[in-house]
Amino acid sequence: MESSLDAAARCLLEARYAIALTGAGLSVESGIPPFRGPNGLWTKYGEPPMNGYERFLADPRKAWEERLSPSGPMRELWQALSGAEPNPGHRALAELEDMDIVRATITQNVDNLHRVAGSRRLLEIHGNATLIRCIQCITRFERDEIDYAMLPPRCPRCDGLLKSDTVSFGEPIPTDVLTACGEEADHADCMIVAGTSATVYPAAAFPIAIAERGGDLIEVNPYPSELTALCRVTLTGPAGEVLPALVERIRALK
Ligand SMILES: [Zn+2]
Repeated sequence: MESSLDAAARCLLEARYAIALTGAGLSVESGIPPFRGPNGLWTKYGEPPMNGYERFLADPRKAWEERLSPSGPMRELWQALSGAEPNPGHRALAELEDMDIVRATITQNVDNLHRVAGSRRLLEIHGNATLIRCIQCITRFERDEIDYAMLPPRCPRCDGLLKSDTVSFGEPIPTDVLTACGEEADHADCMIVAGTSATVYPAAAFPIAIAERGGDLIEVNPYPSELTALCRVTLTGPAGEVLPALVERIRALK
């Protein structure tokens, strides 16, 4: 572990442009249940319909009624989200950004915890559960900026249909985020992959593209993943412990 930490720290210090990719494993340590895996919400409640976006478009009023008084997995998720706080893993990534070591963080999490922890260049590829998005003009709003007297609510800017910013099954990733993620991944010669096995596309494509170009991947996961074989350095353990140790090591070498 000691020498892997050194290797990862040196890798980041030598990188021209390092970014991070994070997933559910990072937020599990903040009490956010994952969707997949043994304790996953979908494992417990069953997979949601794969055509969630189509269903939203077919009956947005009903979707909003469910959204405003959630039940089942969504209720459990909302309760976890409202009480959750960033953990040392989130804070370490924000610190690495402050140190100009990490330039951007792409996350598959919708829980807003990176933002609360202080990450600034944050690309939420599956959206942000605390925000509302216009599906027409892609403007995002805070929940309390919107009038819910008439359902479905409409965009104050363009009168387009509003939905949760969380990307539903079957919904295209909003073009602004997807383009920005692609640009960051194209720039990057080093990527920290933390708390994700990076098997869900499109996020999975970014580390693979970086590795294929000869860039370095630094994996931070409790268990080996499908990505492990591609990684220059693998740091085994929970992100909430490994990432702060990595920050300390970088400070020592700097
Ligand atoms: Zn709009």
